[in-house]
Amino acid sequence: MAAECDSGNCDAWAARDPSGILSPYKFNRRSVQSEDVSLKITHCGICYADVAWTRNMLNNSMYPLVPGHEIVGVVTEVGADVKGFKVGDHVGVGTYVNSCRDCENCNSSLENHCSKFVFTFNGVDTDGTVTKGGYSSHIVVHERYCFKIPDGYPLAKAAPLLCAGITVYTPMMRHNMNQAGKSLGVIGLGGLGHMAVKFGKAFGLKVTVFSTSESKREEAINLLGADNFVISSDENQMESQKSSLHFIIDTSSGDHPFDPYLSLLKVGGVMVLLSFSSEIKVHPANLNLAARSISGSVTGGTKSTQEMLNFCAANKIYPDIEMIKINYVNEALQRLVDRDVRFRFVIDIVNSF
Ligand SMILES: [Zn+2]
Ligand SMILES: [Zn+2]
Repeated sequence: MAAECDSGNCDAWAARDPSGILSPYKFNRRSVQSEDVSLKITHCGICYADVAWTRNMLNNSMYPLVPGHEIVGVVTEVGADVKGFKVGDHVGVGTYVNSCRDCENCNSSLENHCSKFVFTFNGVDTDGTVTKGGYSSHIVVHERYCFKIPDGYPLAKAAPLLCAGITVYTPMMRHNMNQAGKSLGVIGLGGLGHMAVKFGKAFGLKVTVFSTSESKREEAINLLGADNFVISSDENQMESQKSSLHFIIDTSSGDHPFDPYLSLLKVGGVMVLLSFSSEIKVHPANLNLAARSISGSVTGGTKSTQEMLNFCAANKIYPDIEMIKINYVNEALQRLVDRDVRFRFVIDIVNSF
C-alpha cells in the first residue's frame, strides 16, 4: 500500500477503513481552473450516504474517505471564465461534482442521470483523482455543479437542501405534486421525510405521515404541520385510509411490505421510492386494478436544484437541524444509524477547523 502522505492544502476528517471511524486528515485540492469556483466550506449536512460509504456498506469505498455531500460555503476564488459566481457569494454543492456535460441527460439538465456522473465523494473524477467531500475546509468545483444560496437564507439550514431537499423536491415536481388540495402520504420521518412534509404543506397538499413510532406524532403534527398521523403497523388505522391518497413518498430505509401502502392510493396514484429496499414485492392487482404506479428517483439535476433552493427561500422552508462540531462526528453518525436525530445533523465546519 502506498504511504499515506497526510499533508496538503485542505483540512478534513476521513475514515481510514471500514470501521468508518473518522479522524483528522489533510490532502490537496486542485488549484482553481478557468471554470472552477473555490469555496470555503461553512457547513456540511450529514446524510445516510456518509454512513454507507465510510463503513463500506456498498463494497466500493476508497480510503482515506472524506464524506459529505450537503455542502455550503462562501466563494473565495473564481476562475477567469466563471460567469455565475463571484467572491463572497453564498453557494452550495450537492451530491455530484461532474458529469460529461454533453449527453442527452446533461443537455436536459438531468446531470444526476448522466452515465459519467461523478459523486462528490468516493467518486473518480475525470482527472483520475478520488473525490473528497464536505467534511473539509474547502472545495473546488466546476461552476455548473455549484448553486447560489439565496440572500438571507441561513447557511447552516441550507446544507440539508443539497441532498435531502433536492431528493424529495425532484419527484414531487416530476409527478406534479404541487397541486393544492390533493393528498400526500409520507412514509418515514427522518431527514428526507421531514422535507417531504414541508414541501407538501408549501404546495397546499393534505399531508399524512406514516410511522411505526407513536413518538413521532407530536413532531409530525405540531412541529412539521402534517394534517394526519397514522401508525403503519396498526391495520385498522391503515384500513381507514384506503384509496385516500393521490401520492405517496416512501423515505423508509428499512425493508417493509409495499401492498399495504399501494392500497391507500386512489386510482392513478403514484408511490415514489427514495430509499433502497433490498427487494420490492407487490401483488399485481394492487397496481392494475387502480392503475397505480411505483416510481423511483435519486437527487436532481442542476436546474431543479437551483429552482428548489429559490423555492425554499421564497416560501421560508427551513430544514430542522441539530448543529455539531466536527469532533462529534463519529457520535453523530452512530446516532443517525440509531435514528436518534431530529431531523438532520449539520457540521459547523467553519468553527471546527
Ligand atoms: Zn445524501
Ligand atoms: Zn452527461
